[in-house]
This record gives sequence, structure tokens and C-alpha cells, in this order.
Amino acid sequence: MWIIGKRFPDPSLHESSKEDNEKVSLFDWTGHPFVDAGLVALLILNKKRSPEELTEEDIRKATEFASKLYARKEWGSGYIHAMMLPNSGILMANPSMSKKRTPEAIAQNLRDLLQEPEDPNAPICEICGRRHSRPKPVYRSDFPLVGTGGVPNYFPSAKDGLNVCSHCLFLVQFLPLVAYKVGGRVLVMHTYPYELMLELHEEAINDVRKSFLASNARDFKRPENFLFRLLGELTRKTERDDLWGKASITLYHFVNNNQGQDLQIIHVPTPVLRFIAHASREDPKGWKRIVAMGWRKRPSEEDFEKYERSYANEVYSRLLAEESILPYFIDMKNRRANAKWSLLSFYCSEVLGLDKEALEFIKDVGDRIVETLEKLPDNQLSRRVRELERAEKLYQFEAFFVNLEKLRQRLGIEKPLMTFDEFATVLTSYGEDLNVSWRTVKHLLLFRIYERLHDKLMKASEEEEEVEENEEVGIFGMGVEG
Ligand SMILES: [Zn+2]
Repeated sequence: MWIIGKRFPDPSLHESSKEDNEKVSLFDWTGHPFVDAGLVALLILNKKRSPEELTEEDIRKATEFASKLYARKEWGSGYIHAMMLPNSGILMANPSMSKKRTPEAIAQNLRDLLQEPEDPNAPICEICGRRHSRPKPVYRSDFPLVGTGGVPNYFPSAKDGLNVCSHCLFLVQFLPLVAYKVGGRVLVMHTYPYELMLELHEEAINDVRKSFLASNARDFKRPENFLFRLLGELTRKTERDDLWGKASITLYHFVNNNQGQDLQIIHVPTPVLRFIAHASREDPKGWKRIVAMGWRKRPSEEDFEKYERSYANEVYSRLLAEESILPYFIDMKNRRANAKWSLLSFYCSEVLGLDKEALEFIKDVGDRIVETLEKLPDNQLSRRVRELERAEKLYQFEAFFVNLEKLRQRLGIEKPLMTFDEFATVLTSYGEDLNVSWRTVKHLLLFRIYERLHDKLMKASEEEEEVEENEEVGIFGMGVEG
């Protein structure tokens, strides 16, 4: 353990460490994605879980491991200089240094950096707040995206470079080991709890160990698709709900070179994370069918992974934008519910915020509709359902219920479909609120109908195609029947 308690600018910040004979670990989580990613690399390389566990020997080994790779052309020029730290002097990625670039020289630079004396007159590090920064501001060749000279990039105060301490800067030099190359850019997944970050980035280090090249994220072209895939696998592997309860994930997908600097930030809302975890575990087949609906052309079973690696998916993008994916739970063309009711219910309550009672009520109404429709001959059944499927306006939705009530009377079913109060609730309580509108109710009802009447409906549609041409279309049109 490195002991630096005495040199610490404000030991009171670390009460627990003070009790422990003023021992303070050399590194700690900072909340900065790139610095934390470097720490993740050190931890994974040494099979450790938290910064306090890192020893001097661990850091030495990681430094040697990184330096050997960084001295290779594929890393220095092909990756570090080209995508992450252009002209880096510390990692000797600057093309003019290629002749002098050796593992020993890079390792020496890294050691020198870590042992750099702290200047008490320098400002406090803007990232960790624990140490004084280096005397001179740092530019994008040593720290991604902070600009250079008079050209600031993604840096809040728009001033000339970043005031960063040698330790934070040291950690960032390990970022190349743990980042993924996705679609010509670099991907870092920053998480809370930090433990999750170790899980999500372990594959990158494993790839580096196997191929001595930076990980290409299984050839995924889109960061969010890769994340959703990893999350699915991870939830099935760990079965730990505590990881997701309050989890937060933000993706940083960037490029930082002499030609340009660009950054895309994708935040994954916590309820969405909980939903993905639940879906992957409780109804993986249903979830896969829902995702498959997110591509314009539905992939075959064999093509699913190819699509997943390459193409933007509407279900993913709607989840990330906090828009409803309810319509994807049903397959209107094949009149099928894509998932289990329990998954739909979880989505509605956890993500859409629909209360459980309302959901149960709608389910019950759905069952009453099914009870009515079941009594119809197949071809009429299909037409009734189509009336609901095609309802695009509130009055059309209303007409479906009024017509169904009349049908119940004709069929001699004693009890009405709904009381007046219930009717009013279905139609109006949910109003035109974006998430919980009558359209939500419509999708939930269709889900229930498809779930229970799929076979009958599919049989009906086949027969219907034959008679359709001979009949006047729209007997049960969009209006209320006389
Ligand atoms: Zn720092």
C-alpha cells in the first residue's frame, strides 16, 4: 500500500483513512469517465475490485504491461495517436518519436509522471480535488478532448488546458487498454456503482490479453447496441438485483485526433436499466422479439446478431430517449403478443410509471372483451379486433366499446362490458398524456386480446382473405353502429 497521508492537502476529507493510521490509497474513484476508466484498467489487470486493494507491485506490473503494448506500431500510431491522444509525448505516440519509442522509455515516462513532486502553489486538481495539479495545464495530447493551446474542446471553463494532478493524468494513460473501438471511435462506459464498470470493461482487457490489440467490441458498430447486449449477458450471469437498483450508466463515444474532436454522450435512464435487467432474465425470448421489431426489416433468427452489431434499433433509441416502446410489445401484423404479460406489466409500472391498479383494471377489461369476442364466429371476431387495431382517433376507440356493448346485448350476455364509471376511466382519465393516454390503453388491450386469441385470430384472417373481396368492406366500420 502506498502511504501518502501526510502529503494529502486535506486529510479531513478522508476520515476513515485517517483512522487507519493515515493510510490513503494512491488512487480513488473520481467520477470522471476517463480517469475512472484508467483505474478500471489497473484493477482488472490485477484482478482487484477496489482502489484500496492496489499495491505498488500491481501498479508496476500494469505499467510494464501497458508500455510493452504502447511501444507497438498498432497502438502508438494506429490507435493512441489516431483516435485518443494525438502526438502524445508521455506515451510517445507522436510520429516523430517512433524511432525512439521503446517499452522501457514509455515505462520510464509513466513512472516519472507518478513520482512527479507536488507543487503546493499550483491549483488543486480539477478532477480529483485531492492533489495539487501539475504546474502547467494539460492538453488533448495527454488527456482526451480538453483542447490544445487556444483551442478548447469539451472543457467547461473554456480556458487554456486542464489543471490536472499527476495521478489523474497517470490513470488516463491506461485508458487505451480498457476502451472499446466501436464504429471508428472510442467507447467508455462510465457507471455507478463503479463495480458495474469493471464488469462492462473486463472484456476489453481480455481481448487485449488474447490478441495484443485494442478490443473492437465484437465488431459492434453502434455503442448503444453493444451496451444492450452486454447488459443482457451480465444480468443473466450475475443475477444480482442490487447492481441495478440505483445504477446509472453513461456512454462516452468519442474521437480525439489532429483531424477532429467529437464526443457523443448517451445516458441510460435508471428505470430503463432495471427494465433491461428484468427482461433479459424473466423473458429473454419476449425481449428479443420486441427488439427485433425495432428494425424496419425484421431479421430472421440467424440474422439477428448481424443486425444487432450493425444497425440502429428504434426500440433502443426510444428507450434511451425516454419514449414509450409499448407499441413494440405487440405484433399487429401477426396479431401476436411479443412477450409475457408480466414483462409488459413490469415495463408499464417501472418505466412508464403506470400504477398497478390501473394496469390490473385494464387487464380485466381486456379479459371481458375476450369473453365477448370468443362467442363470435371467426370472421366476425377478426373484424371486431380490426376495429380496435385501426382506431387512430379517440372517437373511433369509443365506437369500438359502444359497438361491443351492443354486441353483448345481441349475444344475450347479461352483464354490461363496463359500468359507466369504468367506461369513463378507460376513455378519459388517461387523457392525452403522452405516456398514459388512451393509446396506451389500446395497446394494452390488444396485447391481452392477442395473448388469448392469437390462434383463433390467425385462423380467422386466413379465411377472411378469401371472403373479403366479395363483401363490402367496413360493415363494422369506424363509426357507431345503428
Ligand atoms: Zn487529480
